Amino acid sequence: MATVTLDNLRKEFDNGRIVAVDDVSFEVEDGEFVTVVGPSGCGKSTTLRMIAGLESPTGGSIRIGGEDVTDVHARKRDVAMVFQNYALYPHKTVRQNMAFGLRMSTDLSKAERNRRVEETAEMMDIEDLLDDKPNELSGGQKQRVALGRAIVREPDVFLFDEPLSNLDAKLRTTMRTEIQRIQNELGITSIYVTHDQEEAMTMGDRLAILKDGILQQVGKPKDVYENPTNKFVGGFVGSPSMNFVDVEVTGSGGSVTLANDDGFDYSLTGDVAQRVSESGSKTARLGVRPEDVTVVTGGAGIPTTVDVVEPIGSDNYLHLDVGTDFIARVDSDVEPTVGDTIEITFDQSAVHLFDATGGDALL
Ligand code: ATP
Repeated sequence: MATVTLDNLRKEFDNGRIVAVDDVSFEVEDGEFVTVVGPSGCGKSTTLRMIAGLESPTGGSIRIGGEDVTDVHARKRDVAMVFQNYALYPHKTVRQNMAFGLRMSTDLSKAERNRRVEETAEMMDIEDLLDDKPNELSGGQKQRVALGRAIVREPDVFLFDEPLSNLDAKLRTTMRTEIQRIQNELGITSIYVTHDQEEAMTMGDRLAILKDGILQQVGKPKDVYENPTNKFVGGFVGSPSMNFVDVEVTGSGGSVTLANDDGFDYSLTGDVAQRVSESGSKTARLGVRPEDVTVVTGGAGIPTTVDVVEPIGSDNYLHLDVGTDFIARVDSDVEPTVGDTIEITFDQSAVHLFDATGGDALL
């Protein structure tokens, strides 16, 4: 069992002037694939490096398989890390690179080491490259070797630090699937750091979202997408991003209106309205995902001007002006003329509302 447990994990730099990781707690279950995601500088690499033992925490603890490893040397932790820059030994062949970790950490016979390297090379589809040196390989092949080197060790935990960032978009997509396939097959607990929300959403059983060293939310991709805990998370996951509109909240009980001076006017009813009025907020930030916007006719919708129609094949993105930029994702046969006024609406079950100051979700 290789559960990874972070308990109030903290890392300060520069005598406390930088808090890179601010009392982060979460648990990765045995065999689970958790992505850690957030913008540059949010503390994701530092968190991973502390789990690997490459950085020592200022506070809190790390347990792997129930054992406290906070003060255990990196080499004594049964984890294998895959880096963005591959970190291969340039003068060693692929075979030697892969076998190196095995030689360091186990007392297997040479024949057994060879067998494991060859088996893993086959799994990674790099068996023809075993006698090549890293400088003879493409970026994608180097990353396969780096992955192979981690896999061959059969560690308790895989740690990935933005392993696909140096690859082109197409290769990145292929490698994502590959990593997921292998992780599924081997069932090894994995923690995968990325700044790319799409990568985090598609790869993780769950994702942990960090901002300024603070953990914002941990959850399954669908739950995080549908129920973001705050405005930051709402805006961070999903592409194109959630639309936000500043509104004033008026009304009470089961009838609440969200409106602003730019002519934006939307009514909530029933339980949803009740929850908003109970929050007592007078100003808020409405959030609507592009795919939740519907174009309507008949005067009941919110009037907007069409700025740009952007075809993406199956659908169109409409860039609309509601006082602020607002994107709707609609069927490709909805093709309004630029400059026209159209009406939009959305189902209130799809509407998000965030506190205007703190950004916490009100719905
Ligand atoms: P990126 O995606 O850009 O790598 P990140 O989310 O991985 O960012 P970290 O590299 O963990 O973020 O850095 C978190 C914060 O800690 C940043 O403000 C960074 O400047 C700071 N930091 C990281 N390492 C050190 C260090 N050795 N000394 C001082 N500050 C550091």
